[in-house]
Amino acid sequence: MPEAPNVIFPIESWSVTETSFSLGANYRNETTFALSNGYLGTRGTQDECMALEVDTGLEGNFINGFYDSETIRYGEWNFGFPTRSQSLLNLPNPKKILLTADGETLDLRQCDVTEYRRRLDLRDGAVSRTLLWTTRTGRRFRVESERFCSLDDKNVLAIRYAVTPLENGAAVEILSILDADVENHTRKTNPLVDYGPFGRRVSQEQMEARGNELYYQGVTQGTGLHVACGISHTLLARGAETACQAEAMCGQISFTVPAAAEERIELCKYVAFTSSIDMETDAMRAFVHDKLATCVQQGYGVLRRAHTGHMHAFWETADVQIDGDEAAQQGIRFNLFHIMQAAGRDGRTGMGAKGLTGEGYEGHYFWDTETYVLPVFTHTCPKLAKGLLMYRYRTLPQARARARVLGHLTGALYPWRTINGEEASTYFPLGTAQYHINGDIAHAVWQYVEATGDNAFLRDFGCEMLCEIARVWADVGCFSEARDGKYCICSVTGPDEYNAIVDNNFYTNLLAQENLRNALKAINILEQEEPEAGRALLARLEITGDEQALWRRVADEMYLPHDGVRGVYLQDDGFLLRKPWDDSRIPPGKRHLLYENFHPLFVYRQRMCKQADAILGLHLFSARFTAEELRRNYDFYQSVTLHHSSLSTSVFGMLACRVGYAQQAYDYFCQSARMDLDDCHRNVYAGIHAANMAGTWLNIVQGFAGLRVKDGLIEFSPLLPEAWEGYRFRLLWRGARLKVAVDRKGVCIKLEEGQALDLLYRGWPRALREGESIHEAL
Ligand code: BGC
Repeated sequence: MPEAPNVIFPIESWSVTETSFSLGANYRNETTFALSNGYLGTRGTQDECMALEVDTGLEGNFINGFYDSETIRYGEWNFGFPTRSQSLLNLPNPKKILLTADGETLDLRQCDVTEYRRRLDLRDGAVSRTLLWTTRTGRRFRVESERFCSLDDKNVLAIRYAVTPLENGAAVEILSILDADVENHTRKTNPLVDYGPFGRRVSQEQMEARGNELYYQGVTQGTGLHVACGISHTLLARGAETACQAEAMCGQISFTVPAAAEERIELCKYVAFTSSIDMETDAMRAFVHDKLATCVQQGYGVLRRAHTGHMHAFWETADVQIDGDEAAQQGIRFNLFHIMQAAGRDGRTGMGAKGLTGEGYEGHYFWDTETYVLPVFTHTCPKLAKGLLMYRYRTLPQARARARVLGHLTGALYPWRTINGEEASTYFPLGTAQYHINGDIAHAVWQYVEATGDNAFLRDFGCEMLCEIARVWADVGCFSEARDGKYCICSVTGPDEYNAIVDNNFYTNLLAQENLRNALKAINILEQEEPEAGRALLARLEITGDEQALWRRVADEMYLPHDGVRGVYLQDDGFLLRKPWDDSRIPPGKRHLLYENFHPLFVYRQRMCKQADAILGLHLFSARFTAEELRRNYDFYQSVTLHHSSLSTSVFGMLACRVGYAQQAYDYFCQSARMDLDDCHRNVYAGIHAANMAGTWLNIVQGFAGLRVKDGLIEFSPLLPEAWEGYRFRLLWRGARLKVAVDRKGVCIKLEEGQALDLLYRGWPRALREGESIHEAL
């Protein structure tokens, strides 16, 4: 893949700025400047949408959940392998705007462009670009544009494009284009997948031009989903001539405008997308037309203000302020911005590991959402968390069907990677075998309910998910004689993808145990608080008292592998049996051992970890272990983990805080905080690393501030990195809003809003009433 150039963005607290256009940095920066509202996503391509080589850019426009599918070709097939692929589909490109003057068309690669500046405004959620273009005849034009993906109206993307001639001269032409002749890149840039989508996947049903409007509707080849996209315009200029033209897969509207010195020409381009996932196919055309008419009527400014209002409301609770470290400040805001925009909000869609910023991982949803992102939303924007959990609830039928394929007579097994709720992983050792996805989802459900007190969610959706997941845990293993009758779970893969198909993965077993107990607790809560609903649910799911007794026994007898000599929990039964790893085997510059370098079996036989696994379990359940145990385990896994996954360092950073390794915690945080901004893994071109981005918030809140839940109470045990003057953030807990501020003078926790609250400070009980603060020394 392309060598990512070493361009560092200037350090700014609320923005990311590109100060020159570089073709070498283009592919990556298309991700950096990508915009989304959880439904629509568009890569940060330039307004001109240049046709580029496959390794220098990717025009990308996506609708969350809109995918195409092909038959997966396997060299060797086995029962239960997924048969159909799922790929987030690259949709028609509505953004393209070409500016022509003096017989020359603006192209950043060839033209005389100076004063170039592109800025992602994190506070407002908009990308703007300004530049000065001098044509070959010497005439200069100030070109300014701005775009945003509306958080107020999920179907809308708006662009304002302005040209100001600095000298008088002949007319200029602005061409606005809707290009449906697009295809996915995955196949071209990812040699690892041997299935599509190949070529253009949407075939044309309609391309129409009418006045200032273009409308395209197409249907996918594999899934038969229909997509509709329209563009409409308003032009602020005197004496313009407009011409409209539509061919099969491409439509264009040209605006020819007399150019007078210092007279600004402003084109507002409104884009509306919808699909047959959201409505009847027959209704799409009118919907798009009406949406565009509303945009035109309201105008860019009104739409922009409505969008910005949502952005500011998000920051009001979610912002984290860091004093004395502007680089980290920029990193955390950039990360929060991207995860906020990536989350599906309609309860029908999830969140891709790459958000909607690229085609990486084919747009699939993984455990990244539940384990890394959901805790952030649960505490800052619970509506987003609920939406994502609802997606999992809605896909319970597919998870139930998958459990049957895997031989479980009851229960639900969620897919390792998916868009439509069905399993899409083709390599089961690193796919379906990751049963921990079930535990991750159950854990997120519980955390959400615990943190929000949303018992209605538990009653209507959560309890059912917890029980269906519990059923699989109670079936997948057995009480093994070889382990003194303890409950063992064999042949699963934990989060660590360098150890596959293992027995008794510590993390998996811990989560299974927690889920079984929480399913029982949830039933109990329902029986106490909503007896009728509780009875109805148990009857509908046919959960008997015997089955509940089995869950209790499985949880109580869950086997957690432990090595008495080293005093550490083993990532899995065979961990110490593997060959001690020789670091010198890592090929120079490589961050991944599989695929290109070693046969998987070689990798699976080494005693090392790609990413945090046992460490994550110890972090999530830190209250169950002694400080000494945590430290020993940290030291052990620290020495064998390669951090070849972006999901690793943030977890180590959190546990480092818990065991008092402040400097290491800070070092890990630094590796995570600007991972995508500085393209540390050299693959940002394919999309963001959403899990790590969320992980940096966790680093601060669960790491430095030491937030955890203990016996139903939140606890803080803060520390302040030496490099910082202080940090502050807000946190939602059961309807209350807390503000936590840590600096050299000490710690202040204020109950800004909400009912009186009990909490723990380093294990000691504290109580807060609304408006009150507690002050503690560090
Ligand atoms: C990691 C997984 C992760 C996936 C998507 C893989 O490299 O090992 O844990 O879910 O990427 O981010």
